[in-house]
Amino acid sequence: MKVYRFDNILLKTGWTEEIYITVDDEKVIQKIETTLPEEEIFPKEGYLIPGFQNAHSHAFQYAMAGINEGLSPEAKSDDFWSWRENMYSIALKISPEELEQVATDLYIEMVRHGYTHVAEFHYLHHDFEGNPYENLSEMSERLMNASVAAGISLTIIPMFYQVGGFNLDANPKQRRFISQTVDEYLNLFEEVQKASENYNNVNVGIGVHSLRAVKPEDIISLFKKAPADIPKHLHISEQEQEVRDCVSHLGKRPVEWLLENVNLDENFHLVHATHINKEELEGIIKTGANIVLCPSTEGNLGDGLFPLLEFFKKGGEFSIGTDSHIGLSPMEELRWLDYTVRLIEKSRNPLCLNAGDYSGDILYHMAYQTGLKAMGVTKEDYFEVGEKLKGYLITKDNTLFKNKPIEHVLGTLIYSGGPEHLERLI
Ligand SMILES: [Zn+2]
Repeated sequence: MKVYRFDNILLKTGWTEEIYITVDDEKVIQKIETTLPEEEIFPKEGYLIPGFQNAHSHAFQYAMAGINEGLSPEAKSDDFWSWRENMYSIALKISPEELEQVATDLYIEMVRHGYTHVAEFHYLHHDFEGNPYENLSEMSERLMNASVAAGISLTIIPMFYQVGGFNLDANPKQRRFISQTVDEYLNLFEEVQKASENYNNVNVGIGVHSLRAVKPEDIISLFKKAPADIPKHLHISEQEQEVRDCVSHLGKRPVEWLLENVNLDENFHLVHATHINKEELEGIIKTGANIVLCPSTEGNLGDGLFPLLEFFKKGGEFSIGTDSHIGLSPMEELRWLDYTVRLIEKSRNPLCLNAGDYSGDILYHMAYQTGLKAMGVTKEDYFEVGEKLKGYLITKDNTLFKNKPIEHVLGTLIYSGGPEHLERLI
């Protein structure tokens, strides 16, 4: 047993001063107290925050981070779809061993940047020819191993990927992703779920890659059959072309179709939802579904801008993800979200809807709480008896944070800080 004293700890209600946390040898929290215990105390300098939640990751794409930032000799322009071709060539080449290595490197970097939990939106399921591995969950287990090696919690979400686009057969380059039917996919999902039970840092979610990657009747059928209370993720409305294709094949915009055909609820996490109209935005909020925003990737791919201010003002909830991993800093993701709104509105602190609000606090608490939902984690407070003590100390021994008034700590971290200001607690 060891008792730590924290000067300042971030809880759901905000900053709380002077807290004593007792942990056992496994670092599991035994007691959280406000009065001085009799045991020996180990003081911890700094501001304790729980780790960030990374609600959207494709680990293998870390292998291409930074290497597509220019035009190839034969190209005159570049966009999401040409980037996707490059992504497919990487996907075709990665062996299970390489996936584990890339994911381990990536997750170690995530932990260094302040993330304690990642949701892996995983669709690279099969071997180089597109045949299932003898162990159906081979590639998922590689990600689980990587999460253990890096010390990060993982929500593995094996994705259903069936076709190449609306009314299009799968492209041969997508062959490693494909399950032909709902039952084939559910078999894969169940194998991954079974494998996850061997890891105490892993849980599972379920989902479809996107409306363009699964036949509409099978999307409906899958979500009817899916377990009720696990997180459900899908990409939606990321690109304008995708919205146009959806309208011409399904007669509806993507979110409009989803609202009419699937029983959305608070377990759903719609990734990007960049191009939505007012009715779609309000429809999402009404169902309690959440949005996952990935600003550094969305910026890198030139996706467009999600109507964040309107969504937030109406009570919408969002988390953040690093998606392609072109950026890995949670502070940068949150800063980007706010700065794009500021640039559009030509004003400061637009997310502060009430006098006395602080932008950093709003962003941190929103991304953390909605992030937990995206992971399928239910918690009463940010630190709880019975869970491992995981978090970061925002260090005070630097010019940025020394003597910083407590109400400005999260703002300073998000707008001016970086991983160099975070000390991993355990
Ligand atoms: Zn994605």
